Amino acid sequence: MSSLSSLRIDGDRLWQSLMEMARIGATAKGGCNRQALTDEDREGRDLFVQWCEQLGCTVSFDAMGNIFARRDGRNNDLPPILAGSHLDTQPTGGKFDGVFGVLAGLEVLRTLSDAGVVTEAPLEVAAWTNEEGSRFAPAMMGSGVWCGVHDIDKVYATADKDGKTVGDELARIGYRGELPARARPLKAAFEVHIEQGPILEREGLQIGVLGGIQGLRWYDLVIDGDACHAGPTPMESRRDPFMAAAPIIEGCYRIAAARAPWGRATFGDIRAEPGSRNTVPERLVVNVDLRHPDAAELDAMDREFRELAAAECDRRSLGHRVDEIWHMPVTTFAPECVQAVRSATEMLGYSHMEMVSGAGHDSLNLATVAPTGMIFVPCENGLSHNELENANAGDLEAGCNVLLHAMLAMDAAPGA
Ligand SMILES: [Zn+2]
Repeated sequence: MSSLSSLRIDGDRLWQSLMEMARIGATAKGGCNRQALTDEDREGRDLFVQWCEQLGCTVSFDAMGNIFARRDGRNNDLPPILAGSHLDTQPTGGKFDGVFGVLAGLEVLRTLSDAGVVTEAPLEVAAWTNEEGSRFAPAMMGSGVWCGVHDIDKVYATADKDGKTVGDELARIGYRGELPARARPLKAAFEVHIEQGPILEREGLQIGVLGGIQGLRWYDLVIDGDACHAGPTPMESRRDPFMAAAPIIEGCYRIAAARAPWGRATFGDIRAEPGSRNTVPERLVVNVDLRHPDAAELDAMDREFRELAAAECDRRSLGHRVDEIWHMPVTTFAPECVQAVRSATEMLGYSHMEMVSGAGHDSLNLATVAPTGMIFVPCENGLSHNELENANAGDLEAGCNVLLHAMLAMDAAPGA
């Protein structure tokens, strides 16, 4: 239907809704503090639910407090097409991270209602619980439980620093639902999000068409030597773990640089034991973080790092161990969803590039259970997880239009 392709969302209404939501937990510097399962989180949820009910949606929430607003289609036996993200923020968060994805989904439903469009499949907007992970670890908690990544009883028992648990806090704010927090079939899932990085802004582009989310590997590299006095002991008779750590760190930078601009190597913390200024340490624990959006490349980085660590330590007769702390595999989005985003962007005439996400998102979990795609819009100076986080209303409008037309394209596509 050609009238559908001329459909556009209301950018002003989207902006007004974002600004109204931003009043809840507003901070002095213009950001938001709406951490998961706080009173502010409840207030934000209540406002979202109220908006969805005003629109005639059926609203439900599950045992993890994930909220689903459903707009019926012509054939409600079909699996729904979902747009989702999160309403919680960092303690010094912004007005757009996550919230934009949820309210853009709502704006899509509002636009369809205004135009009297009934889709074939039902559409849903999801607000996932505790994406940020700042009050309760880990991040992406609600979508993780829903997608079977985490066990709900373990998650319920997770406490914040005051000893309050996820289970109790969910009940306290009235969002511990009866529905099981378990994935249902979805025809597709989309998430529109601010980039949280500088690339789109630097390139002067409006839309990022995401192919996936980069993978990461976290290690503790433990190197053992002998403690000795920093003064009397000649350099050649030391077993100093730093003598291996230095070339290993340099080598990891080379491993990342050989894969520029996508390879990443970071050493966020190094602990020396016993940690005394005038003593060669007997042990070093080096935190290593390696990332790449391509699974084969990340595997190759893993191999090269392990070989390098073994070679440099063996050469100096130092003991070593590589403990893998976390492996977040590369996420590759479903080709049909990536194509839906790409086609919508081209149809709408927005400037764009293909990219991958450097940060984790709820879509990382969704991609394990449903065909999933993501859309990025630029944010000012690439700044996020910061009260000064800002985005251009026109870019947000563009991202929301892409979301609308990607969802419509999947609705028109034959079912799986
Ligand atoms: Zn987010």
